[in-house]
Parts: sequence; C-alpha cells; structure tokens
Amino acid sequence: MNRMSGKFLQHMTWEEYENEDKDALVILLPVGSTEQHGAHLPLGTDTIVAIELAEAASGRTGAVVAPPLWFGWSPHHMVLPGTVTIRPEILSEVIYDVMESLAEHGARNFVIVNGHRVVNIPWMQMAGAKARQNLGVRVAIFDPAYMSKEIVDSLGFGPIGHADETESSHLWYCRPDLYYADRVNDYVPTPRSLYSVDPRFPGDTLCYVPSTIEEMNPSVEAAKGTTGTPSRASREKGERYHEHLVQRLVAVIRSLRQE
Ligand SMILES: [Zn+2]
Repeated sequence: MNRMSGKFLQHMTWEEYENEDKDALVILLPVGSTEQHGAHLPLGTDTIVAIELAEAASGRTGAVVAPPLWFGWSPHHMVLPGTVTIRPEILSEVIYDVMESLAEHGARNFVIVNGHRVVNIPWMQMAGAKARQNLGVRVAIFDPAYMSKEIVDSLGFGPIGHADETESSHLWYCRPDLYYADRVNDYVPTPRSLYSVDPRFPGDTLCYVPSTIEEMNPSVEAAKGTTGTPSRASREKGERYHEHLVQRLVAVIRSLRQE
C-alpha cells in the first residue's frame, strides 16, 4: 500500500522522544478489541483499523503513535471463541496510565483513536476526563462512526451492525491480506424500537447497554456472528471511508496544536 509511514513510539529511542517539540507533540493512542468479527474478518479488526488510521495521520502530521491496546470490553462477543474481554475499569485505567506516563515527560495532547465503536467510548471518556482534570492535558476521543456521518450515506452503507459493510470495506482496504470475501454472511435483524448505536439514527434512543450472549445467538446462528450486509462491502468504498477519516483525524491533530 502506498502511504507515508507513521512514527511509532515503540520504534523510537528515548532520546528521539525526548527531542520531540512538546508544544507540537500529539500522541495518538489506538484502542480496539480482540473479538469475533464473523467468518470473514480477523479477530483483531477493531485494533487493526485504529492503528491504520493513526499511522496514516501520523505520516501526514508527525504525531506519535503510542503502542496500541489490542483488548477492549467485549463481554457479548464471548459468544464465539478467540474473543478476549477485559473489565471496562481496567481499560479505563490502562488508558489513563499511558497518558499519565507520557505526560510526566512533557506530552500535553492526546487523541484516543477508537476502533471498537460505542462499547469502548464511556471508559475512554472516564480516562480522558480524569487526565484532563489531574494532569491538565488535552484529550480528544476520535470515533469513526461519529467522524464519518458526512459520507456514509454517499457510500451507501446501511445502519451500524457488526462485521458489517462499513468495517468490512475498511478492513478490506487496509489489509486485503486478512479479508476473506468468500466467507461473507449477511444478517439483518428486526429493528428494535428505542434502540440504536448509530450516530446517524434521527429518532429518540435509549442509552446503549451491550447485548447478552443469549441476545447474540441469532446473529451467530444466521451469520456466524455478523450483523449487517457485508456482501455490499467494497474495497474502493473502504478507501474513500478511510481517506475521509484520516483527513478528519489530521484536522483534530492540527486543532490540538493550535489551541
Ligand atoms: Zn469491529
């Protein structure tokens, strides 16, 4: 793939990190999950796409990408093997400790790049609020679903599901070597009233509570864990989606530097 490579903290020496201009320094922290993503996507999909977004934005801005967190809060996806779930308070504490460590040596700006959708967000917000208050740092949470509202309709993507056409297209573009187009299954559940995790949904909704394992069973039986229509995924649409998100992430990094 043609792209400028990112600047990863784990590839730098301590002297290189020390020499970073701390006023301009923005740390990108990719956070995803390791959880089932149907039959056609790898378990690490959420983390992989978060890393790809961070790496691309780093290549364009010089922001430093911290080592990614490959685990998220995924209790409902324990319905299928290979899934790893960590307690949400642990997730929040790890995110905070990463920011606290880097802040001790001068980092003032952080962007948490979320690959695990709405499920990770409250714990990121808790870590971000605590870091803002205790460390005086600036923290932004970058979530692809919120940052792609402008273009998903033009791409023809349906409502947010799981291993759906949006994340299938994205992963397909980023890592075609890990995308298994011949194993795609579609499953569109009956819409539930007063319940949506899609930021584009215009009606009233209740707050999100993860499904139970029992509630996940229909998607397992119908489509090996997929919800949505990944048969409509396309690598070309994934590229447009990715490019839009990278541009938005670059804008966030620049706005943090200007504050
Ligand atoms: Zn996912």
